[in-house]
Amino acid sequence: MNTLSVTGGRVLRGDLALEFSDVLIDVEKGVILEVGKSLRGDEEIDARGGLVIPGLVNAHTHIAMTLLRGYSDDKPLDKWLKEDIWPIESHLTPEDVYIGSQLALVELIKSGTTTFCDMYFHMSEVARATDTSGMRAVLGQGVVTVGKKKNDAYSDAEKGLEFAEEYNGFADGRIKTAFMPHSINTVDLEYFEEHIPRARAMGIPIHIHANETLEDVEKTIKLHGMRPIELAAECNILTSGDFAAHCVHVDSNEIDILASNGIGVVHCPASNMKLASGIAPIQKLQDAGVTIGLGTDGAASNNDLDLFGEMRDAAMVGKLSAKSASAVNATSVVSMATVGGAKILDIPAGRVEPGLVADLAVLGLEAAHLTPVRKCVDLLVYAAKGSDVVHTICDGKVLMKDKEILTLDESKIIATASACADDLNGRIGNKRVI
Ligand SMILES: [Zn+2]
Repeated sequence: MNTLSVTGGRVLRGDLALEFSDVLIDVEKGVILEVGKSLRGDEEIDARGGLVIPGLVNAHTHIAMTLLRGYSDDKPLDKWLKEDIWPIESHLTPEDVYIGSQLALVELIKSGTTTFCDMYFHMSEVARATDTSGMRAVLGQGVVTVGKKKNDAYSDAEKGLEFAEEYNGFADGRIKTAFMPHSINTVDLEYFEEHIPRARAMGIPIHIHANETLEDVEKTIKLHGMRPIELAAECNILTSGDFAAHCVHVDSNEIDILASNGIGVVHCPASNMKLASGIAPIQKLQDAGVTIGLGTDGAASNNDLDLFGEMRDAAMVGKLSAKSASAVNATSVVSMATVGGAKILDIPAGRVEPGLVADLAVLGLEAAHLTPVRKCVDLLVYAAKGSDVVHTICDGKVLMKDKEILTLDESKIIATASACADDLNGRIGNKRVI
């Protein structure tokens, strides 16, 4: 057995208590063997003076959108999508998606994320980039049928299932798949009726955007006479094990449906604030017992993929929304970014415990903005940044050591992505703006 130890750090355990411990990892199996004193592996990561946490879980994103970072800011969702994002996305080639994904993977590894859930197109390119990076992911081809000719719409839904079937278990099992209709209003009901039972027969979950804006909810009520989550439950679009992103505008009946049916919610506070979509009622969802994960959404509506920023946003806006400084507290936010996301994605991750996957991040604590070290959970949410991460480990393999990514060529990827974004601007007739 080949082992790795992460030694001498403060370890954030499953109950979010801190202890000075070593973590012993089986590198081949990619699992945590033991957490305790005086554990030494064949190889060692020195975590003295640092904080060892579970690798963070970004449960909703569109990683290739890093190429569109800064392309359209300061617009509401509807205009942002229709005027800017969808037109430029129609020019994206598979190679663009690969390059944008690589750029995102660098950013994710550097900021301590080890698992992400991605909905986009040309998803085989996202899978290829993820495989090389060593990260873990749940991937799905985004399905949109509204406004398309019948053949194109059907083929889009078919592609969603084909990708899910082909790539489930890819990258030595680090990649799992889901069926991902974009949202209730962008997919015709007939495709939900035909393709969702087929996805369930494959044993994969369903992931959609839901109740993101008021307009979104009103449109569903007008078309179907009920709210989106009500419709999703009624038509078996979402059930136990499935998960929805956003859920900003959910009423008490929809919160009950989410809780009683075991449907997970992925909170994306930065995207919701930037697009002025609204504030999700996170404290109410928590009180009802809904499992909540955290997501950055794409880099065009955030504009980064740093889950530390997202944790801070979740806590701040959660308090503002609940009009209570004790609402959406630090412990609950760290849970969302770790064990909550892992539960939603059905991955045995999110805690530093024996038997679980060896996905870890180590933060350096010797920084002015982290001094003095008091409650580490509070520090993670209110003061830490992605750039404080020093080492990242996924599936027992070291992806970043001493801030150097070992699986990807960071400087080459940044240069390639920058040139690719310039080229994309040229293809759509835009001049580069400096
Ligand atoms: Zn999204």
